[in-house]
Amino acid sequence: MRLIFLGPPGVGKGTMATRTKDLLGTPHISTGELFRENVSKGTPLGIKVKTIMERGNLVPDEMTVAMVKERLDKPDASDGFILDGFPRTIPQAESLSDITGLDFVLNLQCPSEELIKRLTGRRFCPTCNRTYHIHYMPPKTEGRCDADGTELLTRDDDSLEAVKNRLEVYTKSTEPLVHWYQKHGLLQNVDASAAPDGVFESIRKVLNR
Ligand code: AMP
Repeated sequence: MRLIFLGPPGVGKGTMATRTKDLLGTPHISTGELFRENVSKGTPLGIKVKTIMERGNLVPDEMTVAMVKERLDKPDASDGFILDGFPRTIPQAESLSDITGLDFVLNLQCPSEELIKRLTGRRFCPTCNRTYHIHYMPPKTEGRCDADGTELLTRDDDSLEAVKNRLEVYTKSTEPLVHWYQKHGLLQNVDASAAPDGVFESIRKVLNR
């Protein structure tokens, strides 16, 4: 199955895409993760995109499309894939439609106050990469990783300033894709304001699984 998870930052695309990957056995391709890997390894691409990402802006379409093309060419994606965080602009969607067809576009929806709460509350452990949330999944000791006691950090792009910018960028550049995919008959809306189990149930219903 060839799927796209569409929706604003913080709506839970990553969480739902991971669970859907386990359900379908198709690879989960997150452009945000691919970029972050490049940044942490210090690759030429990572060096180019680091500041763009920290500010919550979009990486130029050409670089993003080239990276996705390369990933979709790998053999594990030949029978299907779950794209998370791509496409984010109409030109990206047009390039994708030149590369492959799609079965569903799942549009996850949630009010923006909840998105801000979800994003600014996220924390991670720089030692073991475990993730937490100050409201929804707090560590046993405030500010410390349960596994190794390391001080938890906030992703640069989860600062309040960057989050507000990311939501504005979403409204301006990515939201037009909702209409675009609706026009192409691929869009399925999913209420993602509920807790993760409920959202995943709605996704299973859409996918008939
Ligand atoms: P995410 O983890 O999906 O929120 O992505 C983190 C950051 O990676 C975004 O704020 C962008 O800077 C960059 N990024 C991820 N996917 C894309 C994309 N499809 N187009 C442009 N930039 C992207």
